[in-house]
Amino acid sequence: MLRSLAVLLLALISLSARSQDATPPLALKGEWRQGSLLFGATTPGAEVRFNGRLLRLGPQGQFVFGLDRDEPAEASLAIRLPDQPEWLLRYPVAKREYRIQRLNGLPDKQVNPEPAMQARIAAEAALNRAARARDSDTAFVFQRFVWPAKGPITGVFGSQRILNGEPKQPHYGVDVAGPVGAPVRAPAGGVVSLAHRDMFFSGGTLYLDHGYGVSSAFLHLSKILVKEGQRVRQGDKIALIGKTGRVTGAHLDWRVNWFEARVDAQELPPSGH
Ligand SMILES: [Zn+2]
Repeated sequence: MLRSLAVLLLALISLSARSQDATPPLALKGEWRQGSLLFGATTPGAEVRFNGRLLRLGPQGQFVFGLDRDEPAEASLAIRLPDQPEWLLRYPVAKREYRIQRLNGLPDKQVNPEPAMQARIAAEAALNRAARARDSDTAFVFQRFVWPAKGPITGVFGSQRILNGEPKQPHYGVDVAGPVGAPVRAPAGGVVSLAHRDMFFSGGTLYLDHGYGVSSAFLHLSKILVKEGQRVRQGDKIALIGKTGRVTGAHLDWRVNWFEARVDAQELPPSGH
């Protein structure tokens, strides 16, 4: 008797307004931490929103999103299956401590560009933003990334930069030191979305669109070996390390973005660099 009552109660609960499982079909890989890229999968055909933004969903229900360097302390995922109410899941985002990086002895015109340079700088920033805004269905982003260059890491993600004593934009890339002319290889497949020989800050600059809003940028290159629109495979030689733009020495600055969110490239390839 008690048992059948329990069964009846359970049936009533499941018929009530929350006629939905407590948790949605969802698998997530990655840490809820500033600067992380997270990979997920749910039922194909679902609608997934990260902080309200509709995500591109792959044919197997896969998706990806990034937590910015300065991501607020709470984020949300909303998942809706056809003909079902929405699940809204909230996640705390772990805060990171960033290093302070002081660079001194830079030419003053690089730290505080002359007014005559502002138009050029603004035009180049627009090109960079357009490359980061791409939202294509190429699925290279789901490959396991590899390092684009070999060498000691001399700069890390997120550092607050103080140039000649003045606080500036944070450093979003991971710097890999290497000689001018050393190869830069595609860390994952992609489509070349921007190839620029000489930007004011970043010198020879190359962007790969890995798909689903995820892009890589490679800065300070001495030479670019691919053309805009070209598809490259993981491991292809795409450029040569240089010391162009605002630098103090030869290195590759590799950045990974999810749209305008800056994530830590160093966390993508397996460790053991
Ligand atoms: Zn750098």
